Amino acid sequence: MIKERIQLIAEEIFNDVVGNRRHLHANPELSFHEVATSAFVAAKLDELGIPYVRMADNGLVGLIVGNKPSNQVVALRADMDALPITEINDVPYKSQNVGVMHACGHDAHTSSLLGTATILSRIKNDFGGTVKLIFQPAEEKLPGGANLMIQQGVLENPKPQAVIGQHVMPFIDAGKVGFRAGKYMASTDEIYVKVIGKGGHGAQPQQNIDPVIITAHMLTALQQVISRFADPKNPSVLSFGKVIANGATNVIPNEVYLEGTFRTMDETWRAEAHIRMKKLAEGLCESMGAKCEFNIMKGYPYLINEEKLTANVKGFAVDYLGKENVLDLDIWMAGEDFAYFSHAADSCFYRLGTRNESRGITSSVHTPTFDIEETALLGGTGLMAYIALKQLGN
Ligand SMILES: [Zn+2]
Ligand SMILES: [Zn+2]
Repeated sequence: MIKERIQLIAEEIFNDVVGNRRHLHANPELSFHEVATSAFVAAKLDELGIPYVRMADNGLVGLIVGNKPSNQVVALRADMDALPITEINDVPYKSQNVGVMHACGHDAHTSSLLGTATILSRIKNDFGGTVKLIFQPAEEKLPGGANLMIQQGVLENPKPQAVIGQHVMPFIDAGKVGFRAGKYMASTDEIYVKVIGKGGHGAQPQQNIDPVIITAHMLTALQQVISRFADPKNPSVLSFGKVIANGATNVIPNEVYLEGTFRTMDETWRAEAHIRMKKLAEGLCESMGAKCEFNIMKGYPYLINEEKLTANVKGFAVDYLGKENVLDLDIWMAGEDFAYFSHAADSCFYRLGTRNESRGITSSVHTPTFDIEETALLGGTGLMAYIALKQLGN
């Protein structure tokens, strides 16, 4: 019964949800600058009569309390920020803020959660428990909005027994969702290195300390920290995407600058790897007569989906969408600040398929051609409402 009611309302409000998504898509704002987005969400919550408080500047936390007695609480999370990318899609809702784009689908997450809030508000008399709506800023930028909101008490008063989040996935067809219990996404640390040698004429290497050749050794040696010290059962990735030497055919530069990323799924190993990489880089530079500045900026922790909760939520998704539309996912070495929620409370972060190959909607997130098949929002809004009610024991 409740499922059919939710499905009916989801269909009724679908055009509004798409309209909200298009408005947000056309007006993207960068992390920590989601002022208009936050005001838009606040206005929608006002319209729905949902009380809310502000947190972490642009974040909003709303509460919907069911009219049946229950002390259960579930939190639903959406992120609101966009990326520094110039959109090249030719669509009516193209970004009007040049250089900024909702290329990670956070416009879809926000409009979907507003849709879910609309559904839940309309059926308040039919459920017990409290639904906490978390609209967070700054998922894409350290230290991450989730972290700040947790520090400011988003998971207290009332304290949710479960936190649920969804994220668009352009590799899954619209209409389907995907789950992975246990460790699902990686910790993400940024590495910044400067190898300082002594530049000079390329014809006289004996008078120089060549930071280029030292960097070449360093790049291969650092990979051996991963291949020789990491437990093979624990995924680890080390990639350097920026290496600037900036000499010439006959000029050895004074220094080489590198930037990379280190990702894994184990906090003990993560800490050990940081020490080993730094020690190796510094020791190697010293042995070759150069200096080394090796800095790691710690990013988000790994994301873990609580096993029992994820099994339950996956079961609710099977009820709501049908078995054929619920997939099992592999781990993914990208980062996501929902990870902070997953370490602070039992959490489940699942994927909402948004692909439509026949319409050419296949681009990856974080690309200037990213878009979503909007019919995915029909399932997105209704499923989350259904999950919330079932999780609250209705
Ligand atoms: Zn992203
Ligand atoms: Zn994202």
